[in-house]
Amino acid sequence: ADTDLVDLVQQAADAFRATHPDHHLTVTAQPDSLKLRVDPQRIRQVLDNLLTNAAVHTPVGTEVAVAATLEQGSAVVRVTDRGPGIPPADRERVFDRFYRVDKARSRDRGGSGLGLAVASSLVCAHGGTIALSSEPGSTVFTVSLPLGPAGLTDR
Ligand code: ATP
Ligand code: MG
Repeated sequence: ADTDLVDLVQQAADAFRATHPDHHLTVTAQPDSLKLRVDPQRIRQVLDNLLTNAAVHTPVGTEVAVAATLEQGSAVVRVTDRGPGIPPADRERVFDRFYRVDKARSRDRGGSGLGLAVASSLVCAHGGTIALSSEPGSTVFTVSLPLGPAGLTDR
């Protein structure tokens, strides 16, 4: 019943490479297996949104990096891009429903502004956290999911 987060990351990466052939995605995982009790489809949805956001906000050919690690009892996935970054004033609000930083530009790209709100709810429902750090030229989203008995309990 456990899901390997590293497998999920690899699956999300394969799908991303198929749909975004002009981006350069790198995947790292250390250790190479992170077993968790999660809903794999929901966590996949979180990963897909973070990767799609990274692609939408970066020029083609740019590197997008996804890294899975074990940190202090949590499985952590970081998605990093080299886009323009998210201004400090917007960093909390991007998790709000329908919030988009640049409404005029985002509209051409068809986003609803729901992706990060949904991602945040899904990660919270798993007892985890999602955080953002950004500066001009880089944006990093960090998803942290608890391992072991501190995580989801059996009903
Ligand atoms: P949806 O995901 O619902 O299709 P969306 O991508 O616009 O639409 P979110 O995923 O919630 O919505 O993202 C909200 C806003 O945060 C985006 O519109 C964009 O302005 C900003 N944003 C998200 N990720 C990045 C990123 N990697 N770089 C720069 N801005 C970002
Ligand atoms: Mg999105």
